[in-house]
Amino acid sequence: MTEADAKMVKFAADRMLGRLVKWLRVLGQDVIYGPHLTGYGLIRAARLERRLILTRDRRLKQKQPPEFLFIESDHYREQLRQVIQHCQLSVAQSLFTRCVECNSVLQPRPKPTVEKVVPPYVFSTQEKFSWCPICQRVYWPATHHQKMVEELKKIGVG
Ligand SMILES: [Zn+2]
Repeated sequence: MTEADAKMVKFAADRMLGRLVKWLRVLGQDVIYGPHLTGYGLIRAARLERRLILTRDRRLKQKQPPEFLFIESDHYREQLRQVIQHCQLSVAQSLFTRCVECNSVLQPRPKPTVEKVVPPYVFSTQEKFSWCPICQRVYWPATHHQKMVEELKKIGVG
């Protein structure tokens, strides 16, 4: 699925949903999130970029928001399941393609260029690296990826 795909959903999440946001980004979903994204700030940002609002705030309805999804559960697994089902997200292809911290799309990075950036053990045991051009974080498929995949299987979406 490409950015140009008309069915691609983009999200704007309120600040009560930090854990859900990280998981959606692990799945490669475009989610904006931050301390300024609450109440009218959230509504303004969502309208501007045509994003679906994800919220736990029952009072948001009274502020005439654009399209939104009220998140039922307090638990991130249930929250993730709700969003995936509601938006019929396909999760397999875009897994680990987005920076979990800042929401940018990751880019591949040749191994020799990360030698001074990652721990020596990582450099000697990993072959594939990607990085975030905005916050400069380097990513590699390691044990935490495996744990995340297992977690997703538990949720029933992996
Ligand atoms: Zn980043």
